[in-house]
Amino acid sequence: MSNNSIQQEVSLRRTFAIISHPDAGKTTITEKVLLFGKALQKAGTVKGRGSNQHAKSDWMEMEKERGISVTTSVMQFPYNDALVNLLDTPGHEDFSEDTYRTLTAVDSCLMVIDAAKGVEDRTRKLMEVTRLRDTPIVTFMNKLDRDIRDPMEVMDEVETELNIMCAPITWPIGCGKEFKGVYHIHRDETILYATGQGHTIQEKRIIKGLDNPDLDAEIGDELAEQLREELELVIGASNEFDHELFLSGELTPVYFGTALGNFGVDHMLDGLTEWAPTPMPRQTEEREVKAEEEKFSGFVFKIQANMDPKHRDRIAFMRIVSGKYTQGMKMDHVRIGKKVSISDAVTFMAGDRERAQEAYAGDIIGLHNHGTIQIGDTFTQGEKLKFSGIPNFAPELFRSIRLKDPLKQKQLLKGLVQLSEEGAVQVFRPLQNNSLIVGAVGVLQFDVVVARLKAEYNVDAIYESVAVQTARWVTCDDDKKMAEFKRKCEANLALDGGDNLTYIAPSRVNLNLSMERYPDVKFHHTREH
Ligand code: GDP
Repeated sequence: MSNNSIQQEVSLRRTFAIISHPDAGKTTITEKVLLFGKALQKAGTVKGRGSNQHAKSDWMEMEKERGISVTTSVMQFPYNDALVNLLDTPGHEDFSEDTYRTLTAVDSCLMVIDAAKGVEDRTRKLMEVTRLRDTPIVTFMNKLDRDIRDPMEVMDEVETELNIMCAPITWPIGCGKEFKGVYHIHRDETILYATGQGHTIQEKRIIKGLDNPDLDAEIGDELAEQLREELELVIGASNEFDHELFLSGELTPVYFGTALGNFGVDHMLDGLTEWAPTPMPRQTEEREVKAEEEKFSGFVFKIQANMDPKHRDRIAFMRIVSGKYTQGMKMDHVRIGKKVSISDAVTFMAGDRERAQEAYAGDIIGLHNHGTIQIGDTFTQGEKLKFSGIPNFAPELFRSIRLKDPLKQKQLLKGLVQLSEEGAVQVFRPLQNNSLIVGAVGVLQFDVVVARLKAEYNVDAIYESVAVQTARWVTCDDDKKMAEFKRKCEANLALDGGDNLTYIAPSRVNLNLSMERYPDVKFHHTREH
């Protein structure tokens, strides 16, 4: 394959994820985005609320029962002249680790804000994570069909609280029952809103020009005049869109609309496909890898079991960083130093699992995993590389886990280690005793683990409370000092699922004391895979 055609394929791709606070409308936007991508005939089937048409990405009973999205799935669809990869992230706080890691696999993000509420907690946290890589952000102010806050005020809040400049691309005309549509500042046209069109791609009703008398006729003299005055103010007071600043994550284009009414989502997609970056280079420990490079490379950012309940397989999600995947190709699984032949990777066209014929940098493919692949693993064509920056987060919640039937200890350990390799949970084995401690970032992970231990490993496990409040991975450059630290603190030391030494602290005070006492030992809050 010539480098030229790889370049061409790469230039088509836009890989993004949605970040938002729960209930801001991420699922609804995903539905509409897919509708525009012609992936679904009729939007409204992603979560299948109130019907028995369950979402394509739903797979666990628990998820259906609780109505939350536990999984990360990948959807690919064409839009305008681009090929868009949308990576879904679990919205529930308890699965934030997966979300964080998914954000390492995208090149841009769509931030959805409930315009009645403004900036919320979870959005703040997720923005912090996108900042680690200066990911470009597109903003959608949602729920304009409701009474929202003053849009100027919400934009101000985004600017001050999230420390990013806002450049409105569209501007809303009224809201709630009075929502009439938006004025597109760049195109100098008003796009009129019609209710009851949420499940279709609407025929656009457009009025060209702000001074067009048709506008007054359509939305009323008073509102039209108000819009003109408001726009003068807004355009004067806000930032102009600047592509460079957008690409460096310092400025976000802002769109207004209603996902439920399927209005404005297309404007946002137009902007995203036009401006969002094509697949970006990624750093390895050795060198930077560019998307256009001819040789294949990629990294695993997520492992997931039971995508399809009929097939008990595990899928390792790999972001392709460079080159091209073809069915049957040989790759080097760098960590274990083996060549593997990949004949049945899955792609995620339109939410269905299909056999991937080919895929390029920016795409996500799923590899069937029988326990050899871990989060963070690098695959290449020959070169020894290790992609960096795929984090594990120190858990904040701990329980000791125990079997009802003690004879199955081996299976329990195997299950826990595999689940920790997937990133579903973290497991710690104290150096001084045979107990097993499970650590999680969110409390729901505990339930998932017990359910999966039962379903996949046939072990009945129960939790007990344990006197651990926080954990840190520990390293030390000085072997002698490390040995002393290990001897003195053995009661607080454990090995995690990957045999990394971890300090498990009964309290923050204890942790702080140890950190003071052993200044040469490094206590890490995150660990890179
Ligand atoms: P998620 O938790 O971010 O995925 O949010 P959902 O897409 O599930 O939306 C949360 C709730 O807000 C649901 O009841 C949606 O129907 C509703 N919703 C989403 N978008 C809009 C909108 O534009 N207008 C109104 N009125 N409701 C919306």
